[in-house]
Amino acid sequence: MDGTYRMRNPLRHSSQAFHLPDFPAIRPEHVVPAIDELLINYRDGVEKWLGSRSRPDWAMVEAELDWADGLDRAWSPVSHLNSVADTGALRKAYNEGLERLTEHENWRQQHQGIFLAYQELRQSAQFEELSPVQQRIIELELRDFFLAGIALPDEDQAVYRELVLRMSKLGSRFGENLQDATRAWAKEFQNTRQLQGLPEAELNLLAGLAHSRGKEGWLVDLSHPSFNAVMTYAQERGLRKEVYTAYVTRASDQGPTAGQWDNTPLIDELLALRHQLARLLGFKNYVEFSLSRRMADTPETVLCFLQGLAVKALPAARKQYAELESFAQEQGAQRPLKAWDIAYWSERFRQVELNLSDEVLKPFFPMERMLDALFHTAGQLFGIMMVPDHSIATWHQDVRFFWLQDDSGCRFAGLFMDLFTRNDKRGGAWMDVCLSRRQTKEAIQLPMAYLTCNFAPPVGEQPCLMTHDDVQTLFHEFGHCLHHLLTEIEWPQVNGINNVEWDAIELPSQLFENWCWEDEILSKFARHYKTGLQMPEDLKDRLVRSRHFHKALFLVRQLEYALCDLHLHLDYDPENPRAPLDVLNQAREQVAVIPVPDWNRFLNGFSHIFGGGYAAGYYSYLWAEQLAADAWGCFRHEGVFKAETGKALRDEILAVGASRPAMESFIAFRGRPPEPGPLLESYGL
Ligand SMILES: [Zn+2]
Repeated sequence: MDGTYRMRNPLRHSSQAFHLPDFPAIRPEHVVPAIDELLINYRDGVEKWLGSRSRPDWAMVEAELDWADGLDRAWSPVSHLNSVADTGALRKAYNEGLERLTEHENWRQQHQGIFLAYQELRQSAQFEELSPVQQRIIELELRDFFLAGIALPDEDQAVYRELVLRMSKLGSRFGENLQDATRAWAKEFQNTRQLQGLPEAELNLLAGLAHSRGKEGWLVDLSHPSFNAVMTYAQERGLRKEVYTAYVTRASDQGPTAGQWDNTPLIDELLALRHQLARLLGFKNYVEFSLSRRMADTPETVLCFLQGLAVKALPAARKQYAELESFAQEQGAQRPLKAWDIAYWSERFRQVELNLSDEVLKPFFPMERMLDALFHTAGQLFGIMMVPDHSIATWHQDVRFFWLQDDSGCRFAGLFMDLFTRNDKRGGAWMDVCLSRRQTKEAIQLPMAYLTCNFAPPVGEQPCLMTHDDVQTLFHEFGHCLHHLLTEIEWPQVNGINNVEWDAIELPSQLFENWCWEDEILSKFARHYKTGLQMPEDLKDRLVRSRHFHKALFLVRQLEYALCDLHLHLDYDPENPRAPLDVLNQAREQVAVIPVPDWNRFLNGFSHIFGGGYAAGYYSYLWAEQLAADAWGCFRHEGVFKAETGKALRDEILAVGASRPAMESFIAFRGRPPEPGPLLESYGL
């Protein structure tokens, strides 16, 4: 690598003053050399540092932060581009870089020297002189070292490493099996006779699926959108049953591909290994291990929380189900309803009750106005202005950049918004960190974030029109962004969204969703894109009512999954392990309202807890909803745009990030620990 090439690599800015990534200049060939160089820098720095000091002090933490932040600044734009401007060459470079970073993480987590230095610092007299935030950074580092098994005797460390490796393999295998089983089943249609009931958009989707496989006509497969289209709209009961059967038996001993990719032995082994890992680290079970990084403190807290919700939700869910049954019967449905009838009759019921369609709603939600609504909300609550800056280089012409400015005109953060769907972009909506706020001797690095969505782009004269779901997604992701951008903590280890407990991280995002349902926002901003007229009162009313539609039925299903996940990991007995299906059935007996056939193999496709990161943590969804609903209660009580409440939210939750435990922050904002009442209310219970 020659000197001039090095100079021109835009990812090599570890020693320069902080700046935004130079997106147009980043090439795939820059990635690996820059990452390699930064990693060598990091490792050499650590070894030199450990060799040169007799006693660890805070300067060590700062020095390590310097190397780590340099890496983050180089990697963030690469990882972001890989998601939003994917090319084969970049993907290859990204994967190579990722491999190196994973190796580096392992090296860091298993480094005795760094661990002992942190431990010594924790036990030194200097620790007492550090600020509470600095102390917390050290405590969190030590916690993570312990959870990575570094304090175990050598023999146990070897066992630990084997367990982690095996669990990671099983998790990937689980996902692969599920993917293979999902891909293995499809059904072709030469005409739409059997597909009666499906709206045009859904039929187009199925025609697209056929086309993508080089077929004529329509094709139903087991991907989410296709499965949902049939379950929600297909009039033919036999077809719904067939698709349902194929879907809920994927990767199991049942259904059309029975035994081919069976995840059952993987589930058994994963549960056993997780239990073993937790015991090795000194926990009673895997739930305790998992909660050591969460806001909820004990398994009992979580269990009480879930059972408390169940008591309130069950009667309402039963009532909703009974109403659905009698509606379906009036409409001529065969009784009793089966699992494959529920979504279909629920949608029919929704149409009669609410008569809402995206086609009617979308003209009232042009994107520009919804951005105004979003920025208006942020302005009212926090006194901030979002100021566009067209001079900032981005990765695509549709991407916008905004400075966040306070009322004295001072810029304190920045946000990239990339809102339209494109071929080279990953689907879905998410927020990610570009730069973390950081104070050094010379300068301050301002926090920067990416907000990415996949809305339909404008067509000709017609602007981008959003569904209300889209609007809610936009508010949600913006809430995550504010959590990162309004931080006032100067160390990236604990500012913004970094290191926030997983069951609390959705608090700002879910809280922010509430504003897009508010009358003031709907009246002021939801106006027809052609006429500028307000949404008719009756339509607005039906939209708002749709928020609670069949919510109790939804809630009991979430409770069923959360309780099952908790009991699988909490009650695990290595001497006498129960069949996971029995544990699921027990949870169903407790909270399920909708009938499920006994050949349903939901667990074999439950990738959240067996192929993803939600093991012993599925409750987090509801926990975070509880926090958001309870915080929203405060706004509803004080006035939803009350600046004082906004300031309290900013000061006590958004600005402090993980610099103190989430429970402390919540209590500081709300004046008491979270309560489930407002969540139940938000579900119309
Ligand atoms: Zn979120």
